[in-house]
Amino acid sequence: MHQINYDYGFRYPAKISIPDQCPHCGKTMELSIIQRHINTAEGVMILTAQCTASICRKYFVLSYRYHPNDGPTDLIPYTYEPHIETNVTKEVAQLSEEFANTYKEALVADSRNLTHITGISLRRAFEFLCKDFAIYQISKPDYEKSFENSQKEPKTKADIVKSNVNNIIDSFFKDMPALQQLSHVIRKLGNDETHYYRKYEQLDIQDFKRLIETFMLYIQLILQADAYSKMTK
Ligand SMILES: [Zn+2]
Repeated sequence: MHQINYDYGFRYPAKISIPDQCPHCGKTMELSIIQRHINTAEGVMILTAQCTASICRKYFVLSYRYHPNDGPTDLIPYTYEPHIETNVTKEVAQLSEEFANTYKEALVADSRNLTHITGISLRRAFEFLCKDFAIYQISKPDYEKSFENSQKEPKTKADIVKSNVNNIIDSFFKDMPALQQLSHVIRKLGNDETHYYRKYEQLDIQDFKRLIETFMLYIQLILQADAYSKMTK
């Protein structure tokens, strides 16, 4: 927030506060004032503003308390909730509601440039989808008990919930090499988001987001293949 001298059309210019960031894109910019409307009955001055960031150029409204003697004074705070569309499919949302909710929150955080909590939320979303998918695998009637020789591999829902993600990936994705490989990359980047020491400096939150999205699409592929196979038996 910073102050400018604004000529509101009466007497001398008034000092008003204007936001530094655009409510739509979150970029720091010097807004452009397009129009002014004074409503003396309601005691407000309304300014139509435009974001000057070239990728955005969107409009928004600022309103100020107004008195004929004092002119415009305090900025009336508005909060805008960004509308976030996620491409989480119905099948994935049914499999893991916690993934769908956390993933959406991560995208809201990302839209506000909250890069630190975006990463942590994505890591959390990933863990839920991994584990809920593992629970789905063991619940299939034709799921082979191929784990009998291994002590390490989780066999029940309770085992899966308590197990670490590394173990889940190696136990449940081993027959799907691409998914296993992708999951380990996500796991490593996820550690980077939560730990003090950052190992993969060349990769950022956008890479992390893309990988989680691909992971989700892979899970969707399996869910859809299973569902339609059942219907065409
Ligand atoms: Zn903007």
